[in-house]
Amino acid sequence: MVTGTLLIMLDFYELKDDHLPKIQDKELSDEQVLLEINALRAKLGDRVALLGHHYQQDDIIAFADYTGDSLQLAREAAKLKAEYIIFCGVHFMAETADMLTADNQNVILPDMNAGCSMADMANRSEIDRAWKSISKAANTDTVIPITYINCDAKLKDFVGANGGAICTSSNAKQVISWALEQGEKLLFFPDQHLGRNTCVELGISLDEMIVYNPNLQNGGVTADQIKEAKVILWYGFCSVHQGFTVDQIKEIKAKEPERTILIHPECSYEVYSAADMSGSTSFILNTIKDAPKGSKWAIGTEINLVNRLAAQFTDLDILSLSPYQCLCTTMYRVRPRWLLESLRSIDNNTPTNIIKVPAAIKENALKALDRMLNIC
Ligand code: SF4
Repeated sequence: MVTGTLLIMLDFYELKDDHLPKIQDKELSDEQVLLEINALRAKLGDRVALLGHHYQQDDIIAFADYTGDSLQLAREAAKLKAEYIIFCGVHFMAETADMLTADNQNVILPDMNAGCSMADMANRSEIDRAWKSISKAANTDTVIPITYINCDAKLKDFVGANGGAICTSSNAKQVISWALEQGEKLLFFPDQHLGRNTCVELGISLDEMIVYNPNLQNGGVTADQIKEAKVILWYGFCSVHQGFTVDQIKEIKAKEPERTILIHPECSYEVYSAADMSGSTSFILNTIKDAPKGSKWAIGTEINLVNRLAAQFTDLDILSLSPYQCLCTTMYRVRPRWLLESLRSIDNNTPTNIIKVPAAIKENALKALDRMLNIC
């Protein structure tokens, strides 16, 4: 239930009738849904593998064969042999899994409306337009495009075709360092915060970075600014992580200076600077696993993960950095009912919600993915 919870609204997806899951609420109770999922999983055996992103809810994670962040799940998908891979996460993750699996394997997204609002902040025509503007001000042979994995496959295709690579929050530092060895400038999309925070960690100053906003004329930047910038950041952001504030950090520190503030690098630069520690979802998990007993933490990331950590590490004192429940509403869309529907469709030999990246896009997108996997 999310009643009483402030949802961070990042949900720009319209429900389309043909994408609405079909199992109606009254048809089965929640318990019956879970029982049938268990029965079908046993029946389908190793024909099906289930991947669950850390931001999924507990009742989905309970069924996952593998859990992880986007990098871990991409690596896991590449190793799987199952005929069907049910991806409990969001659309771009299922696309990535499809690119990394064999043609005779099928990746299924239980709810086709589970997207990512950040990924939607950059589309291929906007990127093409930006590249054209950049080419008027700089030699694009020296500009290396890097995309965060949170984007549509068409953007991965663009990056692969233009000598760039994909990154995740776990490896952004290595990928950006690699890019700056290949060229003089960086075009980083779609998340400005991950790009900025990582570049600062690499010693690049804020005045060497500009923000390109496709909603403004010429991206809101001049040709001279493009010429002089070392890093061109796309304007995109994650509404969940952008919701954390410096005031929240100050408030906690005023009461409990010993509580460590640990945040995800999709948070703003101001929050990143005020926090004690910052890192990817895996980094957050490992930090908490290794934390000394009794230590106190305020974590700035998606609430399902924070709550799970608090429940799992009862010898630590863990709370969310925000007093509001910073929930990713698109991740939240994947429910046991829709998982059951996916399993039923496989069992009936009429699999639905299969994610297939067209071959024409896959070739270059895979180049960008392979570059990332080789760098890290
Ligand atoms: S948490 Fe943010 S970046 Fe992650 S899937 Fe949700 S909207 Fe996208």
